[in-house]
Amino acid sequence: MAGFMDRIRYAVTRLFYGRNGFDALSYTLLGAALALNAINSFIKSIIIYIIIAALIYFGFFRALSQNLAARRRENNAFLGLFRRVRSFAVLTYRRIVGFRTTVYVKCRTCGAVLMLPRRRGKHTSICPGCGTRVVVRCIF
Ligand SMILES: [Zn+2]
Repeated sequence: MAGFMDRIRYAVTRLFYGRNGFDALSYTLLGAALALNAINSFIKSIIIYIIIAALIYFGFFRALSQNLAARRRENNAFLGLFRRVRSFAVLTYRRIVGFRTTVYVKCRTCGAVLMLPRRRGKHTSICPGCGTRVVVRCIF
């Protein structure tokens, strides 16, 4: 039995030799296909089935592709977009949860978002990233 499993492992290793393999974008495409499939089990739309098939196709196409430079470029673009969306979501969540105690101000010079205590009146703070003086006005 161990010999059979070793042969399968060897065959899979040989299949993926020189290929891209599963990266973050491939996993995301296949995960999106699974999620859409779960949703489509209630809706049963032919258009969503076609989208699911396309997601699965591109997920495996990327994993089995031998054009490593192009796949890495796509994966890096995807990861950059994912980081921006995630940081926006985290910042929005923090703004909603802490809006009574904290004020968020964007630095005009470097674009960093400063998290400052909410106190009524006009205050000045210094951006830790670039040292610019940031003016904060809290009305309430
Ligand atoms: Zn700054």
